[in-house]
Amino acid sequence: MSDAAERKMQFLFALRSRGVTDSRVLTAMEKIDRGAFVRGLFEPRAYEDMPLPISCGQTISQPSVVGLMTQALRVQPRDKVLEVGTGSGYQAAILSQLARRVYTVERHRRLVREAQDRFDALGLTNVTAMLGDGSFGLPDQAPFDRIIVTAAAEDPPGPLLAQLRIGGIMVVPVGQSDAVQHLIKVTRSETGLEYEELRPVRFVPLVEGIGQE
Ligand code: SAH
Repeated sequence: MSDAAERKMQFLFALRSRGVTDSRVLTAMEKIDRGAFVRGLFEPRAYEDMPLPISCGQTISQPSVVGLMTQALRVQPRDKVLEVGTGSGYQAAILSQLARRVYTVERHRRLVREAQDRFDALGLTNVTAMLGDGSFGLPDQAPFDRIIVTAAAEDPPGPLLAQLRIGGIMVVPVGQSDAVQHLIKVTRSETGLEYEELRPVRFVPLVEGIGQE
């Protein structure tokens, strides 16, 4: 077996052993090469189950966490999905394999540009990266079937809850940036919002406004 094939097998094995069992999610993660989202010094470590540094002092999430969050979101093929916190674009690229349309919002201009370049290079035509403070969502594109936040908020942001369609699901890490955070799944039913605590996680904080870079 080639080195690349063996690396991929180990990558998928690690995902499964950490609880990523949804076959559609695993297929998407097999297809989207994490190496394309990690540049420079850390590129050789792209297939390890670790978060890694990217531009603007941010991080690309740990692959198993990407897998578990994507799985919890139960994305359907006709869904319109919003991601808050584009970072490298890896999570959005995975979502693009499962959903009809993906919008991803990032507060650093440089990350928006780099992520959009990656989507274009990979021919991912159903995902758009946009500059903005994602706490406010994207009112022009709302409502969304699914919303995923990949930075930790002290509470699930109100505008995002308001932009979730009935029957919609939102996954968001909640907690202080320097303390244990919990991944929360919010489901909007006809009668209101239901909250479920999934697991402890660690994310960079959701920050107000647009970044300098
Ligand atoms: N999903 C990313 C990793 C996210 S890291 C990936 O797959 O690589 C969290 C990202 O959220 C960072 O890039 C950070 O700049 C961004 N972020 C933090 N606060 C934000 C906000 N209010 N609006 C939009 N993006 C935000």
